[in-house]
Amino acid sequence: MVVSYNHTHEIENAYQTALAQYDRAVHKLELDENTAEYMRWPRREFTVNFPVRRDDGRIEMFTGYRVHHNTILGPSKGGIRYSTAVTLDEVRALAMWMTWKCALVNLPYGGAKGGVIVDPKTMSQTELERLTRRYTSELIPLISPHSDIPAPDMGTNAQTMAWIMDTYSMTVGYSVPAIVTGKPINIGGSLGRNEATGRGVIVCMMEALKRQGMANQRIRIAIQGFGNVGSNAALYAYEQGFDVVAVSDVVGGIYNENGLDIPAVEEHYKANKGLTNFPGSQNITNEELLLIDCDVLIPAAMEGQITERNASQVKAKMIIEGANGPTTTEADDILNERGVFIVPDVLANSGGVIVSYFEWVQDIQSFFWDVEEVYRQLERIMIKAYDATAQMAENKNTDMRTAAQMVAIRRVADALNTRGFYP
Ligand code: GLU
Repeated sequence: MVVSYNHTHEIENAYQTALAQYDRAVHKLELDENTAEYMRWPRREFTVNFPVRRDDGRIEMFTGYRVHHNTILGPSKGGIRYSTAVTLDEVRALAMWMTWKCALVNLPYGGAKGGVIVDPKTMSQTELERLTRRYTSELIPLISPHSDIPAPDMGTNAQTMAWIMDTYSMTVGYSVPAIVTGKPINIGGSLGRNEATGRGVIVCMMEALKRQGMANQRIRIAIQGFGNVGSNAALYAYEQGFDVVAVSDVVGGIYNENGLDIPAVEEHYKANKGLTNFPGSQNITNEELLLIDCDVLIPAAMEGQITERNASQVKAKMIIEGANGPTTTEADDILNERGVFIVPDVLANSGGVIVSYFEWVQDIQSFFWDVEEVYRQLERIMIKAYDATAQMAENKNTDMRTAAQMVAIRRVADALNTRGFYP
């Protein structure tokens, strides 16, 4: 497969980005040194090498990780990623961002992330099932509904979560739906979870447009990534009457200056297993998508896409980060300097973990909500977090990313100081 997203390794790696953002926010907060140093470190890091039997009988070794960044506010929460770009540093960064994301939206969770170095597209369903079950059984000492709760991320989905839930349940001897979120509905998943991240990205965008005085004009949106986040963001934006002019997946994208018919694009994507050659549109590369003439750019693929190499050529007035860490620190500086308004990942893509929290609560209570309730509570929490971020940005005269991190870090720091250092 052609991999045409930027790969962070040559630029600034995700963990360097996460640490630089943290240092910046901590400096502005004037946090005491002990607290700042403690929260900078991942609490636990787990690496496992494990065998998987391929369909042809061969045994192949795989490497997986799970990092618990911080557990001050509660059990750690975060997805599991299957990708060839997975590294321990990437998982550390993503776990750290989960800590800030959960704190920013006021969930009683710490942050975690897991990953396996694998291209899931090169495996059959049965191979993926064996890989997932073995990785899960290696994770048993680290996960439980009260200590660490995984969820989907890049390369994993509801089916992956079902295998994790079943493997865990078989090991303990009874069904434990609350061990993972993002499960299929028929085994304890939440209505609206699949759409939650993409929908939340658009909720955030609408709030940003309103507050930036852009609510009453034609808005052209470009979305990088057509996985769970990108495709659901595209669909919800389309349903809300916005013009989604460009979308892309890992291979490349399509552009129509008058706006794409997103439901038709979805059909085309399913039928052709790709976006290219969609009738009435022009094929573009991922790099072209980032630089296309539009009002709002939504990077919803992976980290390290907007860098010092392309930031000065981004034409969008607003960036809503659907992916985690799509913008490097150097790019952040260039964009802030140019007056591009950025709604950061920990706020913009928090819809996923917010509805994950609802799913966990529903599983624990064995009482399930209707989808209207899920969406109502999702919007309430996101707007509240947006408001806290915007207020911090205004009070401290800083950008939205630093402000969001400041709100989150302050909450974790306060909880840490209330609990005290052990022993
Ligand atoms: N992987 C998603 C994220 O990056 C969701 C995590 C979760 O629901 O726990 O936010």
